[in-house]
Amino acid sequence: MKGLVIFKRIYWGLLLLSTSANAQWYQHSFEVMGTMSHVEFWLDNSEVEKEQAINDKADTLIQVVKQEMIRIDQQMSPYIEQSELSKINREAGVKAVKISQELFDLLIIAQNISTLSDGAFDITYASIGYQYNYREQKRPNQQAIIEALPLIDYASVQLESSKLTVRYTSDQVKIDLGGIAKGYAVKRCLALLKSAGVQNALVSAGGDTGLLGDRYGRPWLVAIKHPRAENKNAAVIPLTNEAISTSGDYERYFVEDGVRYHHIINPKTGDSARKVVSVSIIGDDPTYVDALSTTVFVKGLTVGMQLINNLDNFEAIIIDNKQRLHFSNGLQQ
Ligand code: AMP
Ligand code: MG
Repeated sequence: MKGLVIFKRIYWGLLLLSTSANAQWYQHSFEVMGTMSHVEFWLDNSEVEKEQAINDKADTLIQVVKQEMIRIDQQMSPYIEQSELSKINREAGVKAVKISQELFDLLIIAQNISTLSDGAFDITYASIGYQYNYREQKRPNQQAIIEALPLIDYASVQLESSKLTVRYTSDQVKIDLGGIAKGYAVKRCLALLKSAGVQNALVSAGGDTGLLGDRYGRPWLVAIKHPRAENKNAAVIPLTNEAISTSGDYERYFVEDGVRYHHIINPKTGDSARKVVSVSIIGDDPTYVDALSTTVFVKGLTVGMQLINNLDNFEAIIIDNKQRLHFSNGLQQ
């Protein structure tokens, strides 16, 4: 990793970065979806708009982004009893449940990535995933894993597009959108900013970042965290009008007898995936790069990199167990 630790970014709540009387950068950080989120955008005011008016507009846009993230959390969190996702997990094992178009569309994307990855990405990983509690250092024993493994199968989630329903093949099946929902939320927030006329923006939720345009004539610089040194970065990537998501084994984990148990589960084993320590995916669509970073993490270096090299429009940066960086073909040119 030598030579690549060149950039460290610290966010300080609400900041106003004034570059001229009428055009400014606005940024704000807040906690939602169990993680830190951040929004940053440029409001250009070449017209006669008053400074107060442009500041008010910025405040409104920050609230719009925040509310959108909260809305998606309320809809998709497995920790919120009234969420649409929790309702599905309670009921879809016994009957077909009618769901919103929005959630249906996201479940279709999740299923497409499952097919593409031969089940490395699988939202039914949750059938065993809920038995892990990283804060309390709890994990299922081998017997519990053996019993739950047959429940992990994306084909158990049956989606009926004409009726907009979801049904599980067993009442033991559970789903979780932790590997895709933050990317989706980033995508939605960028779309809202864009429709309000913003042309230059960054929205991030944890390790998922989406960009609109550039940063005042220069690329945005997005850091990939060092997987083993807090407050250090492994790399800084210049990007314009793209999305980047990082999945790392340092986000939620505990170590027991020298073994790291973390939040990305290999659906084939029910155990944490340990072939690599960090995966970043770059591409146009924040939802897909989020799901693909989790996917490639499970697949590991050789097969994961192959998957990305075979897809148009996606690139990967993988950090292996020896903390060496690997780049997909498109990033090597
Ligand atoms: P990310 O940080 O985007 O890689 O997402 C990690 C989250 O994805 C975990 O906290 C789980 O909620 C979820 N997850 C873990 N393993 C899988 C898997 N094999 N397929 C789909 N989602 C997963
Ligand atoms: Mg992901």
